[in-house]
Amino acid sequence: MNNINKNIITIEDIENAPNGSLDFSFDGIIEDIPSNEPVKANLNIKSLGEFIKITGTFNAKLVLVCDLCLKEYQYDMHEEIDEMFAKNSLKEEYGAETELKSTQFVNDLNGDDKIDIYDLLYQSVILNIPNKKVCGINCSKGKFQTDEEFVEEDPRMQIFKNIKIGNNK
Ligand SMILES: [Zn+2]
Repeated sequence: MNNINKNIITIEDIENAPNGSLDFSFDGIIEDIPSNEPVKANLNIKSLGEFIKITGTFNAKLVLVCDLCLKEYQYDMHEEIDEMFAKNSLKEEYGAETELKSTQFVNDLNGDDKIDIYDLLYQSVILNIPNKKVCGINCSKGKFQTDEEFVEEDPRMQIFKNIKIGNNK
């Protein structure tokens, strides 16, 4: 329990910090992400009046399964975090889906007095897992597919295709 609780930052903690700005490092295992190694993050948590802004970077070493050859491979994730939290519900003012700028999604704390950094990092890792997982440029299956595409686009093969069509008439 203590381990989880120390990753929860209260709004009071942030506002009591000098200049309303708190540096926070995380180095630990996050359960339910495909990794056996600790996730490391260096974050800055800043109070901006009605909003809390969290910026920083994190690293994770994930074990993903290649979509092409189905083998496991290590994927080094280095990503930035840039998240905005609204202290009070914005729903009445702006509607359920709040987007201040087109790229800036605001997480609504709904009057909650704390932010769970562990959960924020879990979400950030999951959201940054690539849609197309390929173990590398030397993936044996990937190479095979590229060769096949090349053969299909070979003009000499196009001639054979045309002949076939002609014979079927
Ligand atoms: Zn592969």
